[in-house]
Amino acid sequence: MSEVLTVYNPATAAPIQTVPADTLAEVAQKAEAAAKAQPEWAATPLEQRIAAVHSFRHLLQEEAASLAAILTQETGKPITQATAEVTTTASRIDFFTRHVVAVSAPAAPPISAPEPPALEELITYDPLGVVANISAWNYPYFVGSNVFVPALLTGNAVLYKPSEFATLTGLKIAELLHRSGVPEAVFAPVIGAGAAGAALLDQPLDGMFFTGSYATGLKVAAAAARQLTKVQLELGGKDPAYICEDVPDVAAVAAAVADGAFYNNGQSCCAVERIYVHERVYEAFLAAFLATVQGFVGGDPADPATYLGPISRQPQLAELTRQVKDAIAYGATLHCGGHVLEQAGWYFAPTVLTEVTHDMAVMRDETFGPVIGIQRVADDAEALALMTDTEYGLTAAVYSGDRTRAIQILSQVNSGTAYWNCCDRVNPRLPWTGRRHSGLGSTLSLEGIRTFLKPRAWHLKPPAA
Ligand code: NDP
Repeated sequence: MSEVLTVYNPATAAPIQTVPADTLAEVAQKAEAAAKAQPEWAATPLEQRIAAVHSFRHLLQEEAASLAAILTQETGKPITQATAEVTTTASRIDFFTRHVVAVSAPAAPPISAPEPPALEELITYDPLGVVANISAWNYPYFVGSNVFVPALLTGNAVLYKPSEFATLTGLKIAELLHRSGVPEAVFAPVIGAGAAGAALLDQPLDGMFFTGSYATGLKVAAAAARQLTKVQLELGGKDPAYICEDVPDVAAVAAAVADGAFYNNGQSCCAVERIYVHERVYEAFLAAFLATVQGFVGGDPADPATYLGPISRQPQLAELTRQVKDAIAYGATLHCGGHVLEQAGWYFAPTVLTEVTHDMAVMRDETFGPVIGIQRVADDAEALALMTDTEYGLTAAVYSGDRTRAIQILSQVNSGTAYWNCCDRVNPRLPWTGRRHSGLGSTLSLEGIRTFLKPRAWHLKPPAA
C-alpha cells in the first residue's frame, strides 16, 4: 500500500495536496483501538451521543462554505451542488436524531392472541460493535452520513474509509466529528486507495457497510462471507424513466428528466440513465430535452453559475468515450457532445443519443457521466419490457397524467424506489435500497437505524413462589 495519497483537482488535472495513507499496520491499529473504545461509547448515555451528532450538524452549517469549497476542489462538483449537499445533510441527521430513541428502545413483542405469554418476553437492542463504512466519492456527505450517523448514534464504533477521490472531505468529516465529542478511536478515518479498503475488510468487524460499484460490492460481500459478518451494499444503477403520451406538459417533463440525468454530471447512483418516450410525444420531448441540455452552463465548478463541471475521475472519460463510440457503431444518432473537451481538466461534453437499442452499452452498462440515450417506444408494454431488461434495480420513474397507470407499470419493475412524475430524489423518511445488482439492505428510514442494532430476545421467568 502506498504511504502517500495524492489528491487531484478534476477541473485542472493538477495535484492539490498529498496526504499520508494508512499502512496495513496502521489500519490494524485503528481497528484494535476501535474495538477497545466501542463498549465505552455504547455505554455513553444516548442523549450524549445525540448531543455530539447535533454539534456535528451545527459545524456542518457553520462551516458549509469552506466544506463545499473542499468538495468542489477534489471532486469537481459544482459549488452550488456541493453547498446543497453539505447543508441538506442536516435533514438526514435530524431524521436520525429524532427517531433513534424510539427505534433502539426495548420493546415488548406483539401478543399472539388469544394466549397470553407464559412468561415475560422482551426485545432489547445492542449495537453491532465495530463497523466499516466504505464510502463513494460522488456524494460523500450524503452516503457517508447515511451510515456513520445512525451507526454512531446506536453506539457503534466506525472505521470510515472515504473514497480516495474524496479524501480531504473524509478527513474534514472526521475532524468535525472529533471536535463534536466523538472520540478519535470511535470514528477513525482509514485513508488510502482501494488497498486500504481491502485491508480494512481483513480486520475483525461486526458489520461492513459499503457504497460503491457492483464490482467492488462483490469483493466486500466475499470479505463479509469470510468473517460471516453482516454486510450491506448500496451499489450502482441503470435507472429508467418512461414518459407516457398523457403527460400534461411535455417540455416541463423533459426539463425535469434532463436534470435527473445530468445533475452532478450524471454521477449519481440514482441518475436517470435510460429514457423511454412514447412515440406520440417523442418529437416534442426530444426538442425540449435538447434545448434544456444545450442550456446547461458548463465550466469552472467553483463558479456559482456552473451546472456541469468536470468528471471526478479521469478513467471515467475513457468509459464514456467507449459507450458513445459503441452506440454510434450500432447505429445511434448523436445530437450533441460525444467527446472529451479539449481543455485542462477532465471535461466531457454533455451527450444525447437517440435511435439507441439495448444492444448498446449505453443502454445496459452504468454510464455515470453526462451521456444519455433516449429510445422511442410504441406503448406501455414495450416500455415495461425495456425498463425491466437490466440486472440493476435501484430506481425507476414513470411520467404520466394517470396515477393508476404509472403505479401499475412501476409495480412490475423490480426496483427499490419507484417515482411517479419525479426522479433522482431521496428522502430520509424512506428506505434507500437497491435490488439485484444495486445492492443488499437499506439505509435511511427507520430500517436504516435498526440495521446498526442487533436484537436480543429475553425470556424472563420469575422463580415460583
Ligand atoms: P468504487 O466501487 O470504485 O469504490 C467505492 C469505495 O470502495 C471507495 O472508497 C474505494 O476506495 C473502495 N474500494 C475500492 N476497492 C476496494 C476493495 N478491494 N476493498 C474495499 N474497498 C475498496 O465506487 P466509486 O467510489 O467509484 O463510486 C461510484 C459507484 O458507487 C457507482 O457505481 C455508483 O452508482 C455507486 N453509488 C451507489 C449509491 C447508492 O446509494 N446505491 C450512492 C453513491 C454511489 P478508492 O476510491 O480509494 O479506490
